[in-house]
Amino acid sequence: MAKIFCVANQKGGVGKTTTTVNLAAGLAKLNQRVLLVDLDPQGNATMGAGINKAGLSASTYEVMLGTSDVATARQRSEPGHFDVLPSNRELAGAEVEMVELDNRERRLKDALAVVDKEYDFVLIDCPPALSMLTLNGLCAAHGVIIPMQCEYYALEGLSDLVNTIKKVHANLNPDLKIIGLLRVMFDPRMTLSQQVSAQLEQHFGDKVFKTIIPRNVRLAEAPSYGVPGVTFDPSSKGAQAYIAFGAEMVKRIKKM
Ligand code: ATP
Ligand code: MG
Repeated sequence: MAKIFCVANQKGGVGKTTTTVNLAAGLAKLNQRVLLVDLDPQGNATMGAGINKAGLSASTYEVMLGTSDVATARQRSEPGHFDVLPSNRELAGAEVEMVELDNRERRLKDALAVVDKEYDFVLIDCPPALSMLTLNGLCAAHGVIIPMQCEYYALEGLSDLVNTIKKVHANLNPDLKIIGLLRVMFDPRMTLSQQVSAQLEQHFGDKVFKTIIPRNVRLAEAPSYGVPGVTFDPSSKGAQAYIAFGAEMVKRIKKM
């Protein structure tokens, strides 16, 4: 059975999608079977995995509304060697349309149950909001990976996310845990980065992943080629860090 992880942080532009796509590709390099679920109407993970979000015949939207299923809607990321449940802006409508549906927080969980056995990892790229879509991600997952930039405002808003996770754990999904905080876009030359990083370790202890993802321009360039950074330039520092993070995750799930 697959271990399911949400990559979530309601702050925008903190590296959720870059983390989801490159962790998926990094895990695939380690021979793990991976499904990436794009749960963001922006469709950035879809594009970053090399799939054209404009021409989707079925997507996360139809799967959430129950008019398609994961096995039909998924596509292969050829450069990344993983499967993708793709999305585009249509998914924004699901937020409203789901209000009328039964079990609306568990639509994604139920949809994933059908393909669970085919994967080692399911990685869910969440939108930058604590919305019904994100709630579906949290209800479906065993754990949350929180990417964070080590800057002054990083900790602000973290308590909202942690409280939401606690509520989901208490009321909807007793399996849910914070797996860890991932330091991303890290610049070791900045004293502030070092300070915030040390603060995170102090507060959160082993909930902070050992792997640190550096700021690396190759990771930022890769999406415009529709290729995960890990495949685009495997020897770059960013790619190497995400492969190391993949190895850290493989180790972690053995303990779960
Ligand atoms: P959103 O909240 O809009 O979904 P996000 O949290 O998914 O954003 P990303 O899209 O992954 O964030 O990253 C934001 C920007 O930062 C992108 O332009 C991305 O290419 C860049 N970026 C992410 N990680 C790195 C990194 N380690 N080094 C350099 N650039 C990065
Ligand atoms: Mg994103």
